[in-house]
Amino acid sequence: MSPTHLQNKVALVTGASRGIGRAIAVALVQHGATVVCTSTKAGGCEDTLACCAAGPGKAIAAVCDVSDSEQVESLGKWLLDAHGRLDILVNNAGITRDGVFLRMSEEDFDQVLATNLRGPFLVCKAFSRTMAKARGGRILNIGSVVGLTGNAGQANYAASKAGLLGLTKSLAKELSGRNVTVNLIAPGFIATDMTAQIPEELRAGMLKNIPLGRFGQPEDIAAAVIFLCSDAGSYITGQTLVVDGGMTM
Ligand code: NAP
Repeated sequence: MSPTHLQNKVALVTGASRGIGRAIAVALVQHGATVVCTSTKAGGCEDTLACCAAGPGKAIAAVCDVSDSEQVESLGKWLLDAHGRLDILVNNAGITRDGVFLRMSEEDFDQVLATNLRGPFLVCKAFSRTMAKARGGRILNIGSVVGLTGNAGQANYAASKAGLLGLTKSLAKELSGRNVTVNLIAPGFIATDMTAQIPEELRAGMLKNIPLGRFGQPEDIAAAVIFLCSDAGSYITGQTLVVDGGMTM
């Protein structure tokens, strides 16, 4: 894989203001891509842009709440007007609203589904036609091992990520004839703001169940994205790549 094998590629990473999304954006830029980085807040991706400044590709910030169809539509129009194409789409934006099922509110269920499942649906809708017309593209959905195994206290989140797996496989089948691959990356426990909220004693227990003996880093997920976007990943579609240090094997 040449270090700049993504030169001339245009990528979109949703939820790139921090954590896994930021690491993915940085890695894509390091491999030469032009990367549109989104956050729900104006200025939310400033630190990400600074992390990408060394190139050789470049990062551009955009504001978009992926659960809002109007905002996603405007993002699509703006991006395609500005760049004329999209080669790599990474649906990374995601949230948790954890709680035991008996106390889980409808609002917490709906919010998580709106961001984690409806969001990727809307973003795929905004760009898949262009990718299909170009007869090439890579869609990477960031799921979770929780979508495969379920997790007490995360019924909403697990349902959203299991749904994302169904969306991934269906879209992979629909777009394969147009040479667009669609895959799911399922991270295990990755050290980001999202997992920083987990109490220390719970984290210690989780660590014991990770055969590789460490929590994942955002860069571990970024490496999987780079692989699936490379020529080496061109014959892989509709698959789930679990990146969890062996936690769920
Ligand atoms: P994080 O640090 O909390 O970052 C979440 C990102 O999503 C932020 O950039 C946030 O942007 C963005 N976001 C949230 N709601 C959004 C919305 N409605 N529209 C657009 N962007 C939105 O999370 P992370 O740990 O990096 O997780 C990234 C992805 O990996 C998520 O899909 C998550 O479910 C998945 N994942 C994480 C882990 C883990 O252990 N960390 C494990 C499995 C899967 P702003 O706040 O700036 O708007």
